[in-house]
Amino acid sequence: MDIEHHIKGILEQIDPDSSRLKETPERVAKVCSESLSGYGADIPALVNKFYDSAMDDLIILKNIPFESHCEHHLVPIIGVASVGYVPQGKIVGASKLARIVDCFAHRLQLQERMTMEIARALETVLDLKGVGVYLEAEHFCISHRGVKKPGSKFVTRYFCGILKTDLDLRREFLYSVQKN
Ligand SMILES: [Zn+2]
Repeated sequence: MDIEHHIKGILEQIDPDSSRLKETPERVAKVCSESLSGYGADIPALVNKFYDSAMDDLIILKNIPFESHCEHHLVPIIGVASVGYVPQGKIVGASKLARIVDCFAHRLQLQERMTMEIARALETVLDLKGVGVYLEAEHFCISHRGVKKPGSKFVTRYFCGILKTDLDLRREFLYSVQKN
């Protein structure tokens, strides 16, 4: 309700005939609640099922599409995330990795912070030896305004544990996520 009220005020400033936009504030508030649903996400509750496994090599879910919003301009960040981990005794369903990406994407973000947040959340909830996160995204504040460079991609990566210290493993992860 509060967001709706403020959007109404903004529209009144933009469009003198904003009576035509009567239902827009309600719609925008709904869009906000969908796009920004990641605040307060209970990640340990989300990742509550583990499976015993002898698997001790890299597990990767790559090219997870995500949509976020830049906290500086409130415009879209659209890209893909790849997440990999080396388990130590327990694995999780691959869909949980995608859900964790969404928990952080559905907030106002900086891609650098989002990359670290995903890695650290995985490190906290999973029993793992190491984790790697790779994000590649187009920022509308770069592609559609200001410097206007459509098609440019912002790339960030973050590593914890064995993926930080073992450079061969890190290279394998990057090779896997970067090839088509
Ligand atoms: Zn921006």
